[in-house]
This record gives sequence, structure tokens and C-alpha cells, in this order.
Amino acid sequence: MKHLDRHPIKARRFRSGQLFLAAALALLVALVRCPFRFLTGISCPGCGMTRALLALLRGDLAAAYNYHPLVFLLPAGGLLWLLRRRLPSYAGPLAAGVALALLLAVYITRLTGDSPIVTAEPASGLIAQMVRALTSHP
Ligand SMILES: [Zn+2]
Repeated sequence: MKHLDRHPIKARRFRSGQLFLAAALALLVALVRCPFRFLTGISCPGCGMTRALLALLRGDLAAAYNYHPLVFLLPAGGLLWLLRRRLPSYAGPLAAGVALALLLAVYITRLTGDSPIVTAEPASGLIAQMVRALTSHP
């Protein structure tokens, strides 16, 4: 990015491109909610996290837990990030590994359980619909 400091027009175009990409991603998420689920018909490990965070910000802890049980790790993760320079070097990778393991365990539990948030309906995904459309005979 340092070379962009010497070229203000290129830097302005780069920032405009970033803004456009961010706006396009925000629009995509707003329209389809979860891009992974939209494509595959299967919820992603983070499905429900936005709603959980909004519920947490409202102070509705039960709803936050129901949307995504790991939402309570976000404040802890933010605190770890703020203190990252004061922590030993292994703390970041260790926390990331623990968070990833928890995310995977919670995802499998929710996917195989009776969660209304995490569902698996591969036939409803865009990929399956496109395959059906391409392989169906007129
Ligand atoms: Zn998702």
C-alpha cells in the first residue's frame, strides 16, 4: 500500500474499489443473508451470529444464545485482540485454535441437532438448482 501514497489518483481509485467491493458484499449479504447457504443450501458455521450479536447488544441473552451460542466469545476475543501486545506470542494462535475447535463442535452439534437456525437442505441451494436445470431434459 505504501506505493499508493506516492500516487494519489491510484490511491483514490483503490479506495473507491474497496468501497464498491464492500458495498457489493453488504448488498449480497443483505439480499441473500448467508452466501454459503444461498449457494449450497447448507448453513455455515457462522449462521445466526449477526442476529446473536444484535440480540446481545439489546441485552437479550437467551435469544443471543439461541441464535449462536458462541456469540459470548466475541467480547473475549475483542479483549484478547486489544491486549495482544501484552500477551505471550502463543496466546493468539492458541485462542484461535480453541475458537476454531469450539466453532466446529458447535456447528456439528447444531447441524445434526434440531436447530431452527442451522439447516441442511442441499437441494434448495443455487448449485443444486443449476445442476438440475442443466441436466434436466426438455
Ligand atoms: Zn451462514
